[in-house]
Amino acid sequence: MRTYNFSAGPAMLPTEVMERAKEEFTDYKGTGCGLMELSHRGPEFSEVIASVESDMRELMGIGDDYAVCFVQGGASMQFAMIPMNLMLPGGFAEYADTGSWSAKAAKEAKTFGEVRTIASSKDTNYDRIPVIRHWKPDAAASYLHITSNNTIAGTQYHSFPEVEAPLIADMSSDIMSRKLNVDDFGLIYAGAQKNLGPSGVAVVIIRKDLAERTPDSVPTMLRYATYIEKQSMFNTPPTFAIYILGLVMKWLKNKGGLKAIEEINDAKSEALYEVIDGADFYRSPVDPASRSRMNVVFRLPNEELEAKFVAEAKKEGMSGLKGHRSVGGIRASIYNAMPMKGVETLIDFMNEFQRVNG
Ligand code: PMP
Repeated sequence: MRTYNFSAGPAMLPTEVMERAKEEFTDYKGTGCGLMELSHRGPEFSEVIASVESDMRELMGIGDDYAVCFVQGGASMQFAMIPMNLMLPGGFAEYADTGSWSAKAAKEAKTFGEVRTIASSKDTNYDRIPVIRHWKPDAAASYLHITSNNTIAGTQYHSFPEVEAPLIADMSSDIMSRKLNVDDFGLIYAGAQKNLGPSGVAVVIIRKDLAERTPDSVPTMLRYATYIEKQSMFNTPPTFAIYILGLVMKWLKNKGGLKAIEEINDAKSEALYEVIDGADFYRSPVDPASRSRMNVVFRLPNEELEAKFVAEAKKEGMSGLKGHRSVGGIRASIYNAMPMKGVETLIDFMNEFQRVNG
């Protein structure tokens, strides 16, 4: 039996993907080698990386004016690559502070130029997305950086700010979980290990003209143009991670694409919030209008009960429910690969736990 893994990431992958990878593990398409043993310049991997990109373009509606890059170093390296490449000389960049990941992104950017925080919910413990209509984004900014889903706080943008400067979004924890318009963004990035595949690769979708900004002083491997010009193959890319990413793309297409997965994600999160709001026992610390459909955080009456909840859930085949160490509580991460059945199992457990301990 597979465990329902509610971990924030690395997170569970679709069982169909894991099974397929197992079948092909030691003999990829009759080569007598596993995919990870094959040259990244050979026909097998060339086909893999090309089809991952074309499936991603099809699923997200990515136009020709955008490049899709596969970069190592996780989302955290993008915290540095973004200002390094895109901060205009003598310019400034705007950041929205909606949680510890956005704060980390802003901190890194300060090394490369002036950072202006134009919106923050820090004063209310990051319990919401600051109201967008109060923002005053500056057209002269090099870019505006947001974190579309705050993995730790459990908040998510349900609409995006309209800005003249390029909008850059860290979508590590909600990429491809819903339909959106890529043209609204200058750059979208995400570490793969939540919604896309294994860790070891980050996806960067960048409007190609932005890559022309990079100062000459930036090293080759840290320049977006290198990834664009060499199709992410200037050096040896993480072939196995990209292969799994490809299997996840096929799985998403079979599911009916982003519209279909968005409906499932809405249903999963609504069912969980209904249980949380319906009981005095469970409590959501998040402003209802900002709640995440990926990371559902909630509290129990006290920390002892929270520890008991996590331990008993584990015995029932549900792991990873402990909230982030910086905030405590419970966090159910329900990315694309978490089936409705997993959420239903959690809900049954929550109801029973409340009956016994409430
Ligand atoms: N941004 C967000 C929103 C995240 O949730 C995480 C990881 N949990 C990161 C960035 C950092 O990602 P990585 O470990 O790939 O550097």
